[in-house]
Amino acid sequence: MPSIIYIITLIIFLSWNRNIIVSAETWCYDTVNPLEQDNPKPVRCPAVTEKQDNIFHNVGINPNASTNMFEISFTCDPSANQTTCDKAKESFEKAGEIFTSVLSLNTPIRINASLVSLSDDTVLGSAAPARLIPLKCKDKKIRNFPQSLVKQFQFSTHPEYASDDIIAVFNSKCNFYFEGDPTITPDQIGFLELIVHEIVHGLGLVTNWKPLLNSNTVTELTPALNLTSTSTSYSDKSDPEVYYGFIETIFDSFIVTNEGNRFSDFTEQLNDFTPYGTKFQDQSAFISAFINSPEYNVSQMVLKYSQTANTMVFLANPHSELIWLESNITPYSKGSSISHFSMEIYDNTTDFLMTYLQHPGRSLETALQQNNATCVIGPKLLYLFETIGYATPNNPNPQKPSLIESHPVKSKTTSWKNSTTTTTTTTIDTNDTTTTTDSNDKSKPTTSNLFSSTESIIFNNNNYGWINLVISLSVGGLFFISGGWIF
Ligand SMILES: [Zn+2]
Repeated sequence: MPSIIYIITLIIFLSWNRNIIVSAETWCYDTVNPLEQDNPKPVRCPAVTEKQDNIFHNVGINPNASTNMFEISFTCDPSANQTTCDKAKESFEKAGEIFTSVLSLNTPIRINASLVSLSDDTVLGSAAPARLIPLKCKDKKIRNFPQSLVKQFQFSTHPEYASDDIIAVFNSKCNFYFEGDPTITPDQIGFLELIVHEIVHGLGLVTNWKPLLNSNTVTELTPALNLTSTSTSYSDKSDPEVYYGFIETIFDSFIVTNEGNRFSDFTEQLNDFTPYGTKFQDQSAFISAFINSPEYNVSQMVLKYSQTANTMVFLANPHSELIWLESNITPYSKGSSISHFSMEIYDNTTDFLMTYLQHPGRSLETALQQNNATCVIGPKLLYLFETIGYATPNNPNPQKPSLIESHPVKSKTTSWKNSTTTTTTTTIDTNDTTTTTDSNDKSKPTTSNLFSSTESIIFNNNNYGWINLVISLSVGGLFFISGGWIF
């Protein structure tokens, strides 16, 4: 009996600890329209606890996994003919089967896909993670992860998920070729190759390195900026702004220059610009201070790398495989530079998929034949997936980040033993934006990725966790010692 009481006591106190975790809040960043990825919407994503039925701990692979772990929610332009809509839907199903065959997915991935009429005729389409979620990596750095990947980590408690994992929009005005159609014409774009390319971005091949300033000429690149306003209105730029550093994506953390410098180190240098929590009168004051700081040189240097051929690689695990990234577009092209494989190096290889241009007049079947490829997901792209955290048959145990237990920034301490801190968490999702992936791929006018957000309360779960454990062990031990005395 005493041991039972001890266990019950432990459960009660550990449950109390879990409740505190659940009450913690953090900010995620949602992309509602993948064509407007420069304006991600900050949303609260409080921690929630998953039903045990949804967890496949120690299994790794969902035993119920089907041949298609992608759930497609498809919307078709009402003015498009039904046959086209059906072919597009079939293509998404096929794309889902392709990814399912190469990744060891344990949790279904939901794609919200649309084939609709877009105002810009040159845009084929785009896709992005519907939500980016900040998690803590092994090196203690917090980075943005795509929701589709976070789900595969099978956290029993995790930041709340958005309803979709990937949001994708394609232009019904474009002349698409669907696999199985009669011979492709020179002006047609292979739809299947296009959507597989875009889904790769939605799965995590996204960079947070973007122009910071809203100017006609790009003068610098920085990771997404955490600059939060004390105002509750995102559009109100006149309130004081609080600086909480720059945040990169998990993809960004593996970028290394040809001189051996890690982009993560550049992020760290930029984060030394001023202590976290520094207040600025408004956004203009921040910008003025930043461009006059020594750190600004770092952001200019990264821009230089991004538009100089063969200067940056994605360093893939576990064999230090080098994947040369696109840095041969001058001037820098948002949506094309950095977040693609080098066109010059990979266009005619088995890793042709993630170059920034897609050849018109070429079906996926022909592309595979021409490049002696057996799968549209090339070997280097598969390494990339494994490196950012996706399991595959050859790499069943990728690195797994952890939940953010305590926010890196503590300010305005308000309660007992610093357990409760008032702080702010904002990140900016600036993924592959325009992504036309055809010869019309062009740089859009740059816009500022500055925005503001509201403050939130973050609980330092670490402190609570230890305190709870000590208390529960102590109290449980007392019960154990006292035995039947209590009952
Ligand atoms: Zn792309």
